[in-house]
Amino acid sequence: MLDAIGYAALKAKAPLAPFSFERRDPREHDVVIDIKFAGICHSDIHQARDEWGGSQFPMVPGHEIAGIVSKIGSKVTKYKVGDKVGVGCFVDSCRKCTYCNDGLQQFCVEGMTGTYNSVERDGKTPTQGGYSNVIVVDENYVLRMPDNLPLDAAAPLLCAGITLYSPLKHWKAGPGKKVAILGMGGLGHMGVKLAHALGADVTVLSHSHKKEADAKRMGADHFYATADEGTFQKLANTFDLIICTVSQDIDWNQYLTLVKVDGSMVLVGVPEKPVPVGAFSMIMGRRSLAGSLIGGIPETQEMLDFCGKHNIVCDIEKISADKINEAYERVVKSDVRYRFVIDAATFKKAS
Ligand code: NAP
Ligand code: ZN
Ligand code: ZN
Repeated sequence: MLDAIGYAALKAKAPLAPFSFERRDPREHDVVIDIKFAGICHSDIHQARDEWGGSQFPMVPGHEIAGIVSKIGSKVTKYKVGDKVGVGCFVDSCRKCTYCNDGLQQFCVEGMTGTYNSVERDGKTPTQGGYSNVIVVDENYVLRMPDNLPLDAAAPLLCAGITLYSPLKHWKAGPGKKVAILGMGGLGHMGVKLAHALGADVTVLSHSHKKEADAKRMGADHFYATADEGTFQKLANTFDLIICTVSQDIDWNQYLTLVKVDGSMVLVGVPEKPVPVGAFSMIMGRRSLAGSLIGGIPETQEMLDFCGKHNIVCDIEKISADKINEAYERVVKSDVRYRFVIDAATFKKAS
């Protein structure tokens, strides 16, 4: 076994603390990755605090992982020692169902193996995530990082990037399409950059004006504070596509009025409680309300290559491991510009 150090939640809602654990020895198709950086996704916080139910502890969160291959199994063909790689939200799946065969492993009928807060395909070994110094992953679930992108700012592409890229592509964001990004946090700011690079007309809907200058710098064509009087009237029936990244309970009916005929509102944010939706919100305007979950391995690689080509990375605040709990509080208060990334060199052995 390989010794690993990192940070873990030992129980729900407890602050994260230094944690020592073991990773499996590499199997034939495994690569050992020396983790350099891990992003903090709001999903880490939801799960570490057991806001979605069913969390398993101790939990080492982290599914925005960037690092360097340090060792490979005897049959690995895709990667070699020294390669810049990434790992996203899952590390395995059944590999035989229709969705796995189509590269949509996130929808595997047997369930994907989450990078953390999940169990391996043996049904019992817990998985542990990227807030650590090393991880062992099958080569088929590892991504290649573009050479021109810095690993720290590229790490969050593995979740925030793909979670926005996938619905933007699926709902055909591009020239002539009006796209609104609702909520400009880690996911939302990537939505702005990606939708802009895809050629769409991009609007940010944020709850205040604080992020307006940043949004324009990232490529937003328009910016509205939803708290301002008149915003909903002014923007009624405007958008082909709204991607909702908000992590809190909001009134989806109100936002659906902003979608134009045959347009869609796509949920990627996962609030703690279910939100009621009125039928009129959808039948008026033949609107669709949909959801989207990260992306499969081929599309994640496509997104990374797209970001490499367009020089797109995340805006990050790099932190040391001892600042993780403080960072969680700031994410919850929407006070992050725009993703915290942990420097894995700062993990220390638990005393
Ligand atoms: P984040 O950085 O905290 O961003 C969420 C944004 O929502 C905030 O920056 C804020 O934007 C807005 N917001 C927060 N509270 C609000 C409120 N009360 N009313 C209106 N807007 C509010 O979180 P994230 O990491 O981007 O993740 C966002 C959500 O997506 C989380 O629920 C996460 O679990 C989920 N997620 C889903 C997937 C998927 O595959 N579907 C993948 C990753 C994450 P403004 O300041 O601009 O208003
Ligand atoms: Zn995530
Ligand atoms: Zn499958």
